[in-house]
Amino acid sequence: MATSSRAPLTSRLAGFGTTIFAEMSALATRTGAINLGQGFPDTDGPAEVLEAAVAAIRAGHNQYPPGPGIPTLRAGIAAHQRRFHGIELDPDGEVLVTTGATEAIAAALLALCEPGDEVVTFEPYYDSYAACIALAGAQRRVVTLRPPDYAIDPEALAAAFSPRTRLVLLNSPHNPTGKVFTRAELELVAGHCRGRDVLAVTDEVYEHLVFDGREHVPLATLPGMAERTLTISSAGKTFSFTGWKIGWATGPRALVSAVQTAKQFLTFVSGAPFQHAIAHALGLPDAYFESFRTGLQAKRDRLCAGLEAAGLDVLRPAGTYFVTTDIRPLGERDGRAFCLALPERAGVVAVPTVVFYDDEDVGRPLVRFAFCKRDEVIDKAAARLAGLRG
Ligand code: PMP
Ligand code: GLN
Repeated sequence: MATSSRAPLTSRLAGFGTTIFAEMSALATRTGAINLGQGFPDTDGPAEVLEAAVAAIRAGHNQYPPGPGIPTLRAGIAAHQRRFHGIELDPDGEVLVTTGATEAIAAALLALCEPGDEVVTFEPYYDSYAACIALAGAQRRVVTLRPPDYAIDPEALAAAFSPRTRLVLLNSPHNPTGKVFTRAELELVAGHCRGRDVLAVTDEVYEHLVFDGREHVPLATLPGMAERTLTISSAGKTFSFTGWKIGWATGPRALVSAVQTAKQFLTFVSGAPFQHAIAHALGLPDAYFESFRTGLQAKRDRLCAGLEAAGLDVLRPAGTYFVTTDIRPLGERDGRAFCLALPERAGVVAVPTVVFYDDEDVGRPLVRFAFCKRDEVIDKAAARLAGLRG
């Protein structure tokens, strides 16, 4: 069939290709390697939440839910923000249910940015940030977080702002580094937002995965930030149902309403029965959240020990599903080549962190492994990786 001579993909999306997560999961499927690449658990979340989803399907919750999300889920999200973070929200107008955090991020950038606006974010950055900033016609201004501690460099942060800055897009706990931004760092960011009249959009999907007694501080809880912050999270990570794609955005009415305007033309709505199940999940007792966190912390320790034994330099994460390693002690320099060869060499798939950097020199030797897997899978992967040392 004849096609136009013009390239089909718009210039805004040129270079975005296939996401590294899809590429690496396909590599795992093709080679039969253990997939420690894409971040998804290999077990289901709580049985009672599964049952709630089945019950919701049987009860006939199978048509379009209301645009902002079903009332019980919006109430559950507001109650969750109060219980864990002391944030008060009106479920009618300050809470929007989305198709995962992914849609909330996309809708926020499309709704809030004019073409030419600038978005300050931190690298390594989650891959959809760059793509959605580009879709919005905005420009990213990136502040590099450098290993081993990934601390914010105050001068680099200040230099990223300009009169065109519309918003700061901040992810804490941070994928892929596992960094949890400190209160002092968040205060630094907040100071710029307040002083320059800039909005903040925060991605807090790993809010319950913070280890070693550290605290997760939502940016919206800092002085003067509630009125200028859109807080995004999702059920995928917290309840181990990444395929359900129930997410949310919360914050001041005007911001939430703007995001809803964009969101309604992306998916309109989604996941009716799963919305009911997640409304139930958000009401689980504190003990659930606590044992989920300690369970993942133990998995972190398990995989970190295996990666150290394999001779990798381990950058121990403070939160999330992921640990980053530096491959240079193995005599390797290029994380992408290392990851492409890893299924053959060791029967394991990991993610080259360089794809999340504009400054590729910083990210080149870094490789991310996911530890949200069964202990026996982690052990098997570690045993295979131990062979790399030879
Ligand atoms: N942000 C970050 C930092 C993530 O790691 C992910 C993947 N869970 C998402 C957003 C997307 O979340 P969801 O699956 O809820 O769309
Ligand atoms: N958030 C997951 C990760 O970082 C992947 C989600 C996706 O594939 N988009 O691995």
